[in-house]
Amino acid sequence: MLGALGLVGLVAYGLHVGRRLWQRAQILDSGGPLSALEAGYDVRRYELAVALHPSRRTIDGRLVATVLATAPLERFEIDLDRRLDVKSVAVDANAAPFERLRGKLEVALGRPWSAGERHRVTIVYAGRPKISTDPPWIDGFVWSKTSSGAPWIGVTCEIDGADDWWPAKDHPSDEPDEGMAIELTVPSGLVGLANGRETSVRRNADGTATSRWEIAEPINNYLVTVAAGPYVELDETYHGVDGTLDVPMRFWVLPEHRGLGRRLWRQAPRIVETFAGLFGEFPFLADKIGAVEAPFDGMEHQSLVALGDGLLPAPSGRYETLVHELAHEWWGNKITARDWDDFWIQEGFATYAEVLYVERTEGAEAARDQLEELRTDIRDERPLVAGRPRTAAAAYDGDIYGKGAWVLATLRWQLGDEPFFRVLREFSGAPAACRLVDSAELERLVARVAGRDLSWFWRQYLRRAGLPRYRETRQADRENDRVCFRWTPAEFELALPVAIDGAAPRRLEMPVGGACLAVPRGTRVDVAPAGRILAEPAPER
Ligand SMILES: [Zn+2]
Repeated sequence: MLGALGLVGLVAYGLHVGRRLWQRAQILDSGGPLSALEAGYDVRRYELAVALHPSRRTIDGRLVATVLATAPLERFEIDLDRRLDVKSVAVDANAAPFERLRGKLEVALGRPWSAGERHRVTIVYAGRPKISTDPPWIDGFVWSKTSSGAPWIGVTCEIDGADDWWPAKDHPSDEPDEGMAIELTVPSGLVGLANGRETSVRRNADGTATSRWEIAEPINNYLVTVAAGPYVELDETYHGVDGTLDVPMRFWVLPEHRGLGRRLWRQAPRIVETFAGLFGEFPFLADKIGAVEAPFDGMEHQSLVALGDGLLPAPSGRYETLVHELAHEWWGNKITARDWDDFWIQEGFATYAEVLYVERTEGAEAARDQLEELRTDIRDERPLVAGRPRTAAAAYDGDIYGKGAWVLATLRWQLGDEPFFRVLREFSGAPAACRLVDSAELERLVARVAGRDLSWFWRQYLRRAGLPRYRETRQADRENDRVCFRWTPAEFELALPVAIDGAAPRRLEMPVGGACLAVPRGTRVDVAPAGRILAEPAPER
């Protein structure tokens, strides 16, 4: 075959292969260093129209992005997966030439933009979006079927970002400040769902249905979703943090799972009330309190959390996926890390919120058991935070869940309950709206509430791998034993939970990394980290 091609053919073939490799080398992963062109504008609003064609596994879409230039720009850049074809681009009302480069869509601006100008970019596109082979761990569309053979569709894109299926500035630092609208068209017989409040549904002449959803609050691009299936709606009522509200809570479930869904959704009001009591009122009351049965395990899609594996309770008897995804409405959706480097804030706070829910509903011992279970999964092979912009895939690590939750449990031990819960409430911005955050902001807040510098705490738990270690030494006095403890690293100052003679553990303050106490000769002194602090004994010398 190759021989018949000749030199010209060979070169052409080489170029073809090179181009394919180049296209494949596109960066789908969300976040990382922001490109200069994408740093030059602020997204004000997205208006997305998308039609789903499950029989062909294709979509048709149109995005209108309203943006504010923050720097002079001659080109406009936005992310979109190469699998999707761009049909046309218009800047304000004028057609504009564009190029596709490594997963970016670059648009030449006929007239350069100046900082402070507001513009609308309209992108019409279509194609076969990436299909997920293992949702939600691998991103993309899920074109599933229900047991009765009806199409059942979902999409998840936390690691790749939304450019898997619509043109988006795929960086967590820019949410549309003026919200988003989604117009979703689905085949006849299906219920189409999206984030936000449904404002209209229209039956089209071809049998399809178009629903329109208005998202009042800023939303991170990976939290945007659509779902379709022969859903039935189950309702509960949320009465608000102070019992004065009467808000519907909606769960869309497949008809064959109505009974399971009802049992699960009955738990939802208590979960939301518990979190609202701890972190401030539910953040998306203007949108909705919603959940949908999805053809994948789960995802915290804003105001429409996805539940797949969680329709049956876990062996613990809890609906763990429901509790976790609802916790994300505060931690991840309302409060979002502005760079994926702080991914631990979203998963660590959501995971610790689960522990708090267990504590409130089943008691302190059950909560301690859950923390100890999380402890066994901590691998601690690298720091939680790298201190530089990172992509979602680079920052994703199992430790952002369990170690993240343990960082908060340890902080609670160090601060005490009242200051700790004040930190949670202030950090969640209760009652203010959506916010982008980072670890440095949390550190400043904790220092202010604690009235002291805790940089030794954050250095150890966020910026290093490995656990702090305590060493015990004992010296006999005339009638007492002098029991001393020292931390490694020496700068570490975490108070130690110490149990004397089998009594309940008490705090031993460890200023400048160590402390001693005198106990009657032979008295047992045990460090009791379980359920309290993330630390380990130094190995015997
Ligand atoms: Zn999560």
